[in-house]
Amino acid sequence: MFDALRRWRAQRVLKAQAIPDPLWQEALAALPFLAMYTDDERARLREKVVLFLDAKSIVGANGHEVSPVQRVVIALQACVLILNLDSALYDGWENIVVYPGEFVPNWEWEDEAGVVHRNSDPMAGEAMEGGPVVLSWADIEASRDYRESGMNLAIHEFAHKIDMRNGDANGRPPLPATMSAEVWTQTLTVAFDHFCGRVDRGEFTAIDPYAAESPGEFFAVLSEVFFAAPELLYEEYPAVYEQFAGFYRQDPAARVANGEALTYSRQRANE
Ligand SMILES: [Zn+2]
Repeated sequence: MFDALRRWRAQRVLKAQAIPDPLWQEALAALPFLAMYTDDERARLREKVVLFLDAKSIVGANGHEVSPVQRVVIALQACVLILNLDSALYDGWENIVVYPGEFVPNWEWEDEAGVVHRNSDPMAGEAMEGGPVVLSWADIEASRDYRESGMNLAIHEFAHKIDMRNGDANGRPPLPATMSAEVWTQTLTVAFDHFCGRVDRGEFTAIDPYAAESPGEFFAVLSEVFFAAPELLYEEYPAVYEQFAGFYRQDPAARVANGEALTYSRQRANE
């Protein structure tokens, strides 16, 4: 009964709040990595985006006005992660706050001596547990093409949100019953330690060295790579790629780009 009601409500929203074609095409064009998605995937993505925009409110801050295309560009990147997953992974929070550029978050913490500190470092994005996702539009714009920027801010913050669905952003998102938590943790820990070693030795890494900050950041950064440059994750950490493919239920490295099959060396270097 509840499912039927939910489906009926979704159908109503899809009809009433459909995204006009020119707006949809403009948003797709802003995100080059979506070119490898099939027509069917893009159609399903479009439905997810309409429902996401209905469920969340995207508001500007510091004088920033969120344009219709900006709303769709943000929602698209959020929905890429849940294309084949239950949208309930994004339940429990409602707002996305968009600043024109970097912002200084308004939080404080107390150290062991009881001294209260106030954060003063500007940030490009933040995902708060049970609270909003905060984004800098300038940084979304700068990271919409992974091949130029080597990062994707929006996917990063929404990956944290999914990770937080079962508590802290610790790199252990709620896995489906079909996956082994032990294998997940073991695979990601081995890769994380390996990556931290490379960063500590000052080696160049094609993956953003920020991933070495913590297991939570490792999951968020590698999620950016999985969606926006999947062949890179496949080459660098194939075992992690396999775990992500199981979790997100997508195999982006196997997608066909520009009519040409992408080929990868199917080696298991770090298993
Ligand atoms: Zn992060």
